[in-house]
Amino acid sequence: RQADLAHLKNLPAETTDGERIRLFSNTGLLADITPGLDRGSEGVGLYRSEIPFMVHNTFPTEEEQVRIYRGVLEAYAPKPVVMRTLDVGGDKALPYFPIQEENPFLGWRGIRFTLDYRNIQLDQIRAMLLANIGHDNLQIMVPMLSHEDELLRVHALIDEAIRQLKEEGHPVHKPPVGIMAEVPAVIWMLPRLRDNIDFVSIGSNDLTQYLLAVDRNNPRVAHLYSHFHPAVLSAMHDIVRECRRLNLTVSVCGEMAADPKAVLLLLGMGVKTLSMSAFKLPQVKWLVRRVSIPQCRQILDEARDLGRDADIQAMLSRELKELG
Ligand code: PEP
Ligand code: MG
Repeated sequence: RQADLAHLKNLPAETTDGERIRLFSNTGLLADITPGLDRGSEGVGLYRSEIPFMVHNTFPTEEEQVRIYRGVLEAYAPKPVVMRTLDVGGDKALPYFPIQEENPFLGWRGIRFTLDYRNIQLDQIRAMLLANIGHDNLQIMVPMLSHEDELLRVHALIDEAIRQLKEEGHPVHKPPVGIMAEVPAVIWMLPRLRDNIDFVSIGSNDLTQYLLAVDRNNPRVAHLYSHFHPAVLSAMHDIVRECRRLNLTVSVCGEMAADPKAVLLLLGMGVKTLSMSAFKLPQVKWLVRRVSIPQCRQILDEARDLGRDADIQAMLSRELKELG
């Protein structure tokens, strides 16, 4: 199947009615670069910076980080690379920094952790900015944001890193800064955050987990975890609409972006940028090139009328089958 799709590499991800959809890849390993570029990825929509931290035996130094980040920025330049700041905690453990908590998913995760370890975050931001010199395709993204203050503190850290690096003689400047919409609170915070963000990326994995109060990795409740739950679909649609109203770029970088059934709904909501594992990219591009936006809007309306998760999925499977 992948071989049949290889010819799509140089064709645009454009719907039958001419809407251009941007398809980005998710990565965290240098080994992912070639598969992404080979499949026509238009940039990195989510660089999971915790992955290089997880495969080390201690916190990587600034120099080590510069080398790793530069590898990705250089390979993709001038295409954009969205680097997420360290997102550990929850299901992402650092072997050399164990965190014991009763409720790890509600605890010390993502930006909460790094704002408490200011130096780790400052080093990482410095490394990203240094790696960006000469490429200028870096964008910085904040994970697990739930309070406005966290965003202001990240900006202060980025400004501090820039001040330090300029003083050291490096020609750095501030890249675009965005957030993950993955804690449901963000849905209602967007107008307040607007002036301090350049883009939003919906993390549908955590958004689903937190909206439904279902641990994304617990097999006992796995049957309750679904991005086709009507509340998840409404939340996604609300975020997309709100971003549109506020003139903010919005993308989806969770598993939903790689699920063909969900892609039909996302296109219907008005999502124009999807980021996914490189291996899923050709299949999604194939689908984008088979549908029109009005058709996807109609499918979304139908999903909303059906309301029940299982009915929605059955209907989407039928639609996909019809598309071939
Ligand atoms: C998400 O939560 O949807 C996401 C993309 O981030 P991660 O899966 O790395 O938590
Ligand atoms: Mg997440």
